[in-house]
Amino acid sequence: MDIHPLTGEFLHASKEASYLEHKQGQTRALLGFTLSFCTVFYLGFFATDVAALGWGPVTFGLLCARVLVAVTAATCAWLAWRRPLSVRATRLAATIAESVALGCFMFIAVHRPMEFHWHAMSLAIMLVVVYLYIPNRLSHALAIAVLATTGFVVLAAQYSRMSFADTLTMGMLLVLVNTFGFLAARRYNHVSREEFRSHAVLQYAAERDHLTGCFNRRYLHYQLMGDPGGHGKPWLTVVLCDIDRFKQINDTYGHGDGDIVLRGFAHLLQAATREPVDSVVRYGGEEFLLVLPGTELGEGIRLAERLRQTFAATELVSSDGVTRLRATASFGVASVHLAQAAYEDPMRDAIAAADELMYQAKRNGRDRVEYLQLGALERTA
Ligand code: GH3
Ligand code: MG
Ligand code: MG
Repeated sequence: MDIHPLTGEFLHASKEASYLEHKQGQTRALLGFTLSFCTVFYLGFFATDVAALGWGPVTFGLLCARVLVAVTAATCAWLAWRRPLSVRATRLAATIAESVALGCFMFIAVHRPMEFHWHAMSLAIMLVVVYLYIPNRLSHALAIAVLATTGFVVLAAQYSRMSFADTLTMGMLLVLVNTFGFLAARRYNHVSREEFRSHAVLQYAAERDHLTGCFNRRYLHYQLMGDPGGHGKPWLTVVLCDIDRFKQINDTYGHGDGDIVLRGFAHLLQAATREPVDSVVRYGGEEFLLVLPGTELGEGIRLAERLRQTFAATELVSSDGVTRLRATASFGVASVHLAQAAYEDPMRDAIAAADELMYQAKRNGRDRVEYLQLGALERTA
């Protein structure tokens, strides 16, 4: 199990960080929404101060406390909505809003000492909000809630006219709220992370080829064809590569060793490209497509030439641990200048051209790189 049994967080810091990053937009929206809601209620409850104490300096003091909470919560809500707050800043905003709200709540309770029964109910609701609705780290929520509960019970013992039995019952009910608030928050953390993990596994299976870990054709069609990226640079280069006489490798050494060569070639392609900018797609059986956004033809040719030489010089160890497997590959490199291209679908045209160039490399003797700038005259390496 890679989820902590108490906090419901991922044990691996990097996994937890990517989960939090993935959820950050949602977390900020939830924080903004909950704090706005709390602001309205906190101010609205001023009516109960007036009903209990009438108008006077004490009531004015309570109004100031409520306005302080409202301003803090509204500022944090505004920041969460308007600014791209980091995970840490969002948690800090949540902690500040929670601490100010609970601190002021104690101040109000002390000035209305006859109503501690009702204050206990209000606190119970606030604790549920702290555990479940204000997104914060569970350990932070627990610390804030336990401190607030302890402080409240001490103040009740000191300022209220409640009997010992009443204070004890109230204290135990608050412990119950804390326990179930914590358990519910922990359960939520757990379920949410399990859902994230399943989603990641499904996404990987839907987008990647099982044998090589490269992207599959579905990813090419649904993701890359729409927007290959390019960081604002108007170039797009694609490289189609195909292992030479691969059928012979299968026939000579068996399919298991053929798979070793395929994986070796795929790893070479992945190591030489810059994920997540570039993409390596398993285009067919022993045919791979490199999509290189923002890359000019010259860089694409140099990359293909380097890959060709490295693969030809690579010796892979077969499944028997003794036999050395060697192979070569042929490459077709096609490039388009997106701003100048008069093509309706530049990526599709570039792939079609790279495919044709790769077959030309086969016809010209294999273990070669052929290239073309779309819209210009063809040249060969
Ligand atoms: P050329 O140099 O013209 O590309 O010849 P080739 O033998 O590489 O090409 P051909 O298309 O005739 O053969 C491709 C072979 O790749 C046939 C197929 O059985 C094999 N193949 C496709 N997918 C896999 C796979 O996942 N594993 C293995 N071991 N072989 C595969
Ligand atoms: Mg082949
Ligand atoms: Mg082929």
